[in-house]
Amino acid sequence: MADHKPRYKTYNAPAGGWGAAAATAKVLLEQSVVAKGSKALLSMNKPGGFKCPSCAYPDQACEKIFDFCENGAKALAHEATKSRVTRAFFAQHSVTELMQQSDYWLEMQGRLTEPMRYDAATDHYVPCGWDEAFETIGRHLRGLDSPHQAEFYTSGRTPNEAAFLYSIFVREFGTNNFPDCSNMCHEPTSRGLPPSIGVGKGTVVLDDFDHAEAIFVIGHNTGTNAPRMMTNLVAARKRGIPIVAVNPMPERALIRFTEPQDLVQMATFGSTPVSSEFVHIRIGGDLAFFKGIMKVMFEREAAGETVLDHDFIREHTVGIDAVREDALAQDWAEIVAVSGLEEAQIRRCAEIYIRSSATIICYGMGLTQHQYGSQLLQQVSNLLLLKGNYGKPGAGISPIRGHSNVQGDRTVGVDEKPSQAYLDRVRDVFGFEPPREHGHHTVESVEAMLAGTARVFIGLGGNFVRAVPDTDRAYAAMSKLDLSVGIATKLNRGHLVHGREALILPVVARSERIETSRGEQFVTIEDSMSNVSASRGVLDPASPDLLPEVEIVCRMAMAALPDSRVDWRRCIDDYDAIRDLIAEVYPAIYSDFSAKIRDPAGFHLDIPPRRRVWPTPNGKANFLPMPGLHPDDPVDDPWMLRLATVRSHDQFNTTIYSYNDRYRGVYNDRMVLFMNAQDIADRGLKEYDKVALETIFGDGVHRRIDGLTVLDYPMPRGAVAGYYPELNPLIPLDYYDRTSGTPAAKSIPVRIVV
Ligand code: SF4
Repeated sequence: MADHKPRYKTYNAPAGGWGAAAATAKVLLEQSVVAKGSKALLSMNKPGGFKCPSCAYPDQACEKIFDFCENGAKALAHEATKSRVTRAFFAQHSVTELMQQSDYWLEMQGRLTEPMRYDAATDHYVPCGWDEAFETIGRHLRGLDSPHQAEFYTSGRTPNEAAFLYSIFVREFGTNNFPDCSNMCHEPTSRGLPPSIGVGKGTVVLDDFDHAEAIFVIGHNTGTNAPRMMTNLVAARKRGIPIVAVNPMPERALIRFTEPQDLVQMATFGSTPVSSEFVHIRIGGDLAFFKGIMKVMFEREAAGETVLDHDFIREHTVGIDAVREDALAQDWAEIVAVSGLEEAQIRRCAEIYIRSSATIICYGMGLTQHQYGSQLLQQVSNLLLLKGNYGKPGAGISPIRGHSNVQGDRTVGVDEKPSQAYLDRVRDVFGFEPPREHGHHTVESVEAMLAGTARVFIGLGGNFVRAVPDTDRAYAAMSKLDLSVGIATKLNRGHLVHGREALILPVVARSERIETSRGEQFVTIEDSMSNVSASRGVLDPASPDLLPEVEIVCRMAMAALPDSRVDWRRCIDDYDAIRDLIAEVYPAIYSDFSAKIRDPAGFHLDIPPRRRVWPTPNGKANFLPMPGLHPDDPVDDPWMLRLATVRSHDQFNTTIYSYNDRYRGVYNDRMVLFMNAQDIADRGLKEYDKVALETIFGDGVHRRIDGLTVLDYPMPRGAVAGYYPELNPLIPLDYYDRTSGTPAAKSIPVRIVV
């Protein structure tokens, strides 16, 4: 529960600006790291410094003193905090007692300091040595009937070197069970885009923003989830570039923003209007919006105008006819009804798109977290193909990733569906035959735990049970395990919902130095735009008993695989040796890795569509039709509302920094429901009424959350929003995109119960 009384006050000021500066100062004070934190922030995202442990937005590589945002500062301050979770803390608090505490309270307790094991007799975590911890892990893994009885989770905070070794360790162990955090966010990008353009990544680099003639930002709350991107959007607006923001929530930063490092704006309380067209779309209205724009384009072509890039289409693509037929067959009244938009606005957006010869389309979870999220992204790619918006400056598709190295982890092998060619290279480089059958993604791993076929869970970072859907069932699943292991910097609920045996293993944080027998080591991070760069910690580790993720992975491997073919000991000491192995397994993109990474700016991985090369089975970019206008299955209930789970501005994934969400005018409360005024009235409700939400889903499981405060908010009809992880219990485990495994957390069918 928040320390203070809930308060709600509409926020009309620009986002960013003095508010961001004040929030940065506040969090450094709160964590008692004003001097230490401020010094570290000077190195964050700077050559020779460390990468922000929060989102994956590229470094501006600018001349500016600071290259971080308010939310990066929160992540750093919470990592550098003076607070410590010591053995005395665990002696004082039983696990049952800790379970009563809020996620915020757990976060505020500080950094873990030494390995702990769960003592069932006392229901407390007690200290255990590192050797004992690895012995326990080895014993359990070697004791399994099958390697497929273990689940190996990865959080996007894991750097390339540790993620790569984890992927080799787990494959030598014999499984591809790699549930990872990207399964819950951009997996539709990784699974949906390859059939279209051949890669599961964005094709845009930072420099493209300086050349774009139009920018679309769809289903992404940029001011909170990638705040430094605002610098690029504001610069584009100042160049007179139209920005179309598409979102069910009028996110403040997409309306008006003050660049904190713009001294004139700060001195004059000035700001920049960001979106030239704010598209207040209904939840699930994006497909209709895209088809509306395509319909306008094809109608104008049919009327004799040339609005498509015919040369590009002829030379580089196949399949346009089906997409044309489908778009032209759509009925405007239907498009308007499903999107919740006026036809005129869709036509204005089409005009913006048609007039631009170089357009970037950025997107976030608002597009991916739907039952047909992967196909929905293919429609974004169709739109870009119509105008040849690939492989030229200022154009392309840009998934904005929410976790610092989530893309990098996938690139270096954290993948439950690895390609056979990759597995062949692993065999050739390491001399063991890797498992060929696909493994579990996140939802499947929870299902395996519920079924009792999974017996061991290892979490390399993260807060699994809070991040996944169907919280109550996830808790039950974790409790059935023989062993659960949480590798982390801070205490979280994922450590309190545990197996019969359980371990908490504390790691050296991103901002902290890594010292081995070969001297200081650095790790590498791949950002949202495929730039790989070095990250060197600048702070002393929070405790002498922490280990780097690389050493933890290597020692788990040595404990589980006594006859391993890999020289884990060498990897512990020399991170260049790891990078040399990465170069051997990925010669096409990582050759000469150890040398190239010495460039302070890092280097970009090759993205073939940037060269108009399409690594698809047919060697072409493919137009891929999608039937209908709905990215989710319709639900026949007149009182059904679509719920989108969202982050507040003071939150990073499941980490809660405070109970405030100032850009949405919410203070000291996380149990709120943003709702349309007419929808409130239609249900005989008033603002600030307390209600419950129930999920409408025919699997016989009753899902309900009570105690939500109704807030009259500019939501489209039929749409409501609330915070995760508090509302994750409402997401059925089986409610996900079949192509990617991603939970449809932005379109949950619910009803209000009073
Ligand atoms: S934009 Fe993202 S990566 Fe950059 S400082 Fe902010 S939170 Fe960190």
